[in-house]
Amino acid sequence: MYSHDLAELDLAELEQSLESMGHPRFHARQLYQWVHKRAVTDFAEMTDLGRELRASLAGAFRIVTPEVVRKEISSDGTTKFLLRLEDGHLIESVFIPDTPANTFCLSTQVGCAMKCGFCLTGKMGIIRNLTAGEIVGQVRVLTRELSMLQSRFNIVLMGMGEPLHNYDAVMKALRMLNDEHGLAVNPRRVTLSTVGVLPALERLATEPLMPNLAISLHATTEDQRDALVPINRKYGLKELLDACRRFPVKRRERITFEYVMLKDVNDTDEDARGLVRLLNGIKAKVNLLPLNEAAGIPYERPSDARVNRFAKIVADRGVTVSVRKSRGRDIRAACGQLITESARQKTPAQQLAAMLPIS
Ligand code: SF4
Repeated sequence: MYSHDLAELDLAELEQSLESMGHPRFHARQLYQWVHKRAVTDFAEMTDLGRELRASLAGAFRIVTPEVVRKEISSDGTTKFLLRLEDGHLIESVFIPDTPANTFCLSTQVGCAMKCGFCLTGKMGIIRNLTAGEIVGQVRVLTRELSMLQSRFNIVLMGMGEPLHNYDAVMKALRMLNDEHGLAVNPRRVTLSTVGVLPALERLATEPLMPNLAISLHATTEDQRDALVPINRKYGLKELLDACRRFPVKRRERITFEYVMLKDVNDTDEDARGLVRLLNGIKAKVNLLPLNEAAGIPYERPSDARVNRFAKIVADRGVTVSVRKSRGRDIRAACGQLITESARQKTPAQQLAAMLPIS
């Protein structure tokens, strides 16, 4: 009977498993390379492993990869993958090309518990966490489907779910992706986007392998954020920004603050000035995301003039700011915020991708 999913094991776990089966540990590196560097998941194709070992492995393990249900390609090359997990749940992963780097936007949960007021995924509630293997598996699918095993890419954890609400699996996935026997993804190429689950954020600050940080801020006062991002009632704006001030940001790097702009809610001149005041003392850049209206979302998009004025106020005070711009036909993408996208807009992940390093 098949038992363990080999794709869930990091290299150390794989070594232990092989040893406990009576096989030399060094085969673990070969196996890890096959699965994570070459995206090969059929033991029969692992030709540098002996026939007996392959048979033994095939009897003890399965190797699970999310299955592609649907692929949609937009005119700008953004490609959304609808993926089915082994238990039948669906998630989305998105490939965002040339922004200027190639970027994978990954999901970390099925649904999301955070219930942000402007987000359709939040309305789904949380169904379950993804495992580390399922997070890494999204990369395996995308590299295979897009023939990108030899290419460099950035990763944004900005699909379905709140990454810090699934801390252990997310960090294990990042370590597995970083492993030199796998894809060796540099953490500088990974950005984790969070609403601010504070204990997890404090823990992240101590990680040896640390991704770039993006904070979904969306408000400039406690009351405003309580209404838009309910976790603020537990971990308030002030505490969140204090944690950002303490967060170890490397030289020449900054924390990205995402700000969904909602007409007559958080888009005033005073909000813009308040945002700059809040970010005082933080190495910050701001990513303004004018809302794309959707059925079921009780907010409206501000006018372009309002957005531009807001951006100018922020920029004039010395904070780097970017605004999601309209561009050619697009597809809906992964995060609940993303699936509300109209056909004419860049997704938040596309916008964030454009701000990431390319080398
Ligand atoms: S915006 Fe992100 S964190 Fe908030 S409910 Fe949607 S998926 Fe969850």
